[in-house]
Amino acid sequence: MDSSNEERTPLIGILAVQGGVIEHQRTLERLGVRSRLVRRPAHLDGVDGLILPGGESTTMSKLLELGGLLEPLTAKIHNGTPTFGTCAGMILLASEVKGTRPDAHCLSALDITVRRNAFGRQVDSFETDLDFKGISQPVHAVFIRAPWVESVGDDTEVLARVPADDDKGAIVAVRSGHGRGNVLATSFHPEVTDDDRVHDYFVSMVEESMA
Ligand code: GLN
Repeated sequence: MDSSNEERTPLIGILAVQGGVIEHQRTLERLGVRSRLVRRPAHLDGVDGLILPGGESTTMSKLLELGGLLEPLTAKIHNGTPTFGTCAGMILLASEVKGTRPDAHCLSALDITVRRNAFGRQVDSFETDLDFKGISQPVHAVFIRAPWVESVGDDTEVLARVPADDDKGAIVAVRSGHGRGNVLATSFHPEVTDDDRVHDYFVSMVEESMA
């Protein structure tokens, strides 16, 4: 078949060393987007975008190191591959993490300081609707032992905050490059709901980077 005029459909790699992988896989399936589980460095070849799922960030960090994935994954993201981190994935992407183990690695793909388990140990999980810049109706957000973003660098855009009376609710979604960059992260888990709009937003980022 002549493929010269064919538009290439994105292939998204889901980091699969630990954590909530299958939910992201199912969400991409619903959106009709191809995915591949990334367990070894070779699995990074040819992926157009990456998802770093939720789970346990310190365990993921350790497994990335042991599996030789830490360096190639970091390089792939720093080379501009669109990347979406949820919860522990957000923690991995940060440049600084509070409340983590001293030997946990940061990929420094987002200029943010993140606090792990920030909503307190009592508040293990909660759900709320929040306004998300770039998505027209509120997004239903599920938080599970979630981090929040304590501070963002100059070129990082805040996309969502937990609703609060004074408009100063905790930052729970960000995007690099003044909101036009290739790295997206949420404290919450859009993959555990049937609202696929945050993933759809990310797929658009991937498609734009391929165009
Ligand atoms: N508390 C976890 C961590 O620090 C993140 C929780 C999650 O990904 N749902 O890694």
